[in-house]
Amino acid sequence: MSDWNEDAAHDLMSLGGRFALLTRGEGSWLWDADEKRYLDFLGGIAVNCLGTAHPVFVEAVSKQAATLAHVSNYFASPGQLELAARLKRLAGTGDAGRVFLANSGSEANEMAFKLARLHGKPSGRTKMIVVEGAFHGRTMGALSLTPKAMYRDPFLPAVPDVVTVSRSIESLEAAFAAGGVAAMIVEPIQGEAGVVELPEGFLARARELTAEHDALLILDEVQTGSGRTGTWFAFQREGIVPDAVTMAKSIGAGFPLSALITFGAASELFYPGTHNSTFGGNPLAAAVANATLGFIEETGLLDNVNARGAQLRAAVADLPFVTGTTGAGLLIGIRLSAPVAAEVRAAAHERGLIINAPTEDIIRIAPAYTIGDAEVAEFLTLFSAALDATASAHSTMETPA
Ligand SMILES: *Cc1c(COP(=O)(O)O)cnc(C)c1O
Repeated sequence: MSDWNEDAAHDLMSLGGRFALLTRGEGSWLWDADEKRYLDFLGGIAVNCLGTAHPVFVEAVSKQAATLAHVSNYFASPGQLELAARLKRLAGTGDAGRVFLANSGSEANEMAFKLARLHGKPSGRTKMIVVEGAFHGRTMGALSLTPKAMYRDPFLPAVPDVVTVSRSIESLEAAFAAGGVAAMIVEPIQGEAGVVELPEGFLARARELTAEHDALLILDEVQTGSGRTGTWFAFQREGIVPDAVTMAKSIGAGFPLSALITFGAASELFYPGTHNSTFGGNPLAAAVANATLGFIEETGLLDNVNARGAQLRAAVADLPFVTGTTGAGLLIGIRLSAPVAAEVRAAAHERGLIINAPTEDIIRIAPAYTIGDAEVAEFLTLFSAALDATASAHSTMETPA
């Protein structure tokens, strides 16, 4: 397996290095082409909520693939209807809620952007408010809502009328005071920024301001939704109700699928001809999401998400470099006292632990909801070893022999 990296360089678009050639997995364990075993605490970036090759996933895909995989959106399918009703129930939309099924987080956010246009345009309002550090996706619309210069600047001009506020209530109030706001889109916890939490009261104030200014509050729960943070949606811990929420990542346990869920009057904005998707909500994707969400619900797995999250937070608190943790449930940011996250990540990979370094001093973990004592213990062994190795590399550097 010496030349896979060369093949990748030769045949795949050059968009960043790949760490290993993964070939199979079982639960929270993955193997590469050299049969090296890894403990997966990134879960394909908060996607593999049941780990890899979970029997529920395998059965749902296999059964549905052998029954009805795809139909055009001229037709409905039972799984699609079941999933829409389930998502309304989990999000607590009541009867007025509506659901659109799509294929990726970016795509769900594109539709949310269009929802904001339909809402604001009749009164001449097109402004979108976004928060510094936000990540809403890579397609042109979602990218226009993503302030990070490295992602956005090569592709300017962006969609106009996007206003970035800082993570402060004052900044938010000033943006609304300027007028013309159609909607605000915000992640309850900013995953890609490094599991960054919003200030206390920020979302509640956003809800008040959007309501006062007849603007939509759209929550991007692509990463935080589907139970990742220990409740079905992160907003459910905030005591607010949005006008729309997008979700993707963990909804299909690894099957590409996303959703836009609307609440109340926002459910009446789209009308025939204004949106659609060839693959969106196809029977195969719907079957996997129904099986995944059904399994999480029936087995009370969110209790495990909360318990394991608390256990992990407590356990990492005293390790070298660790100054604290952020996030909720099993979306955890581990703050480091020095800009060594990339080194820690590399040391972890070397030892067979997959974690991620979204910034220079933050490690992100997003393991499967199914992790138990064995996975937590192994994580702590490997993660401590990676931190120790990084610490000793640094002390050697600082005191040369
Ligand atoms: C991952 C992510 C997206 C983009 O989803 P894709 O499926 O990669 O298009 C959008 N918003 C948030 C919060 C995300 O974490």
